Amino acid sequence: MDGELISVGTEILLGNITNTNAAFLSEMCARLGISLYYQTVVGDNEKRLKEVVKQACDRSQVVIITGGLGPTEDDITKEVTASVLGYKLVEDAHTKKRIEGFFKKYIKNQGNKKITENNWKQAMVPKGAIVLDNQNGTAPGLIMEQGDKKVILLPGPPGEMQPMFMESVYPYLHKSQPEVIYSQMVKICGIGESQVDDEIKDLLRKQKNPTIAPYAKIGEVHLRVTAKAKDEKEAKKMCKPIVRELKARFGKNIYTTEEDKTLEESVVELLSDQGLTLATAESCTGGMLSARIVNVPGASKILKEGFVTYTDRAKRKRLLVKKGTLAKEGAVSAKTAKEMAKGGCFTSGADVCVSITGIAGPEGGSKEKPVGTVFMACCYQGDVNVKEYHFSGSRNKIREYVTVSALILLRDTILQNFKRK
Ligand code: ATP
Ligand code: MG
Repeated sequence: MDGELISVGTEILLGNITNTNAAFLSEMCARLGISLYYQTVVGDNEKRLKEVVKQACDRSQVVIITGGLGPTEDDITKEVTASVLGYKLVEDAHTKKRIEGFFKKYIKNQGNKKITENNWKQAMVPKGAIVLDNQNGTAPGLIMEQGDKKVILLPGPPGEMQPMFMESVYPYLHKSQPEVIYSQMVKICGIGESQVDDEIKDLLRKQKNPTIAPYAKIGEVHLRVTAKAKDEKEAKKMCKPIVRELKARFGKNIYTTEEDKTLEESVVELLSDQGLTLATAESCTGGMLSARIVNVPGASKILKEGFVTYTDRAKRKRLLVKKGTLAKEGAVSAKTAKEMAKGGCFTSGADVCVSITGIAGPEGGSKEKPVGTVFMACCYQGDVNVKEYHFSGSRNKIREYVTVSALILLRDTILQNFKRK
């Protein structure tokens, strides 16, 4: 099947919001084996939206449209699409009841929202369309089938769109695929995108079925191996040798082959399997590392304490960094990082502590230590491993890269000291 995406919203055209819906849906289409040939962004304008919808429905089998399903005047996606495809809008009793229920619950919990007349607009659906319940908002999703064509309307807010897609649209499209698609994820950390690409150039060049699609994430590269076959067993069998080859090439840099597992999950799992507790000692990341660890359900089993020691004084008081070290080497130095990690273990009583100290910019850099210079250390039961890094980009980008690199340093240290049980 071939498909295309339409993202509706003037805000996207103006650059006020980033089109994360398109990124999410493109990745999902790849996972479903749908060949995505076009992506369009169009503003909340009836005439232009009509043209875009018409063109998409003419040339693609699957058209996914996000945004503009809300209750306000400028939300016109449903009305325009129904009119292009010749559907009449009728009230859907089920959706009306669901919206009433949604508001009742909302008013009870938050008390600051009431149903206004225009909310009932969202209970109007194209007659004959499949209605998808929205568990996180009021606007229902809609699927209009025309022969073998499918036009799918989804709400704009990612918090509503993504769960709706995963719960209803993904299984629906999966079922409609004439061939079975099976894909296997391989997640790599600690090597950059271009190196990964270089190491599998030969595989990428000759790929047809299965295909290998690389996705560059911050500090990680994900490779999706996808096979099409007549049944799942066959497709799985086709993926196997490719995944085996990737494992042979990337070894320990692969942290998981599970679709939904994150880097922090795999790190927490490693710590917990080894019966180790953790402390974090952060400066320029200001708690981003501990926040990622706490993202993982069950982190309480391993995380003892997260220090955010921004000033020299805090580094001395909380982490016992020596006055002389700060005076001689500076806060951003290998020695400070080392003492922070050691001190973090000592004061918290944790088995492992990762420390971060660096210059996130835009100010504060010097010739010897330019913006992006970061020292990290990992203390593992008394032994300390220190590393120097140089990142580039904006303040926030640098901080995100630093956080991922700290997770990787932590992972590497545990793997080096891995104890078989
Ligand atoms: P609402 O009921 O909130 O009006 P809607 O379905 O009408 O939802 P829009 O009005 O188009 O959707 O967008 C609402 C919000 O959803 C936007 O302000 C933005 O925060 C988010 N959003 C919309 N489209 C996208 C997109 N393509 N990528 C990321 N976020 C988006
Ligand atoms: Mg809206």
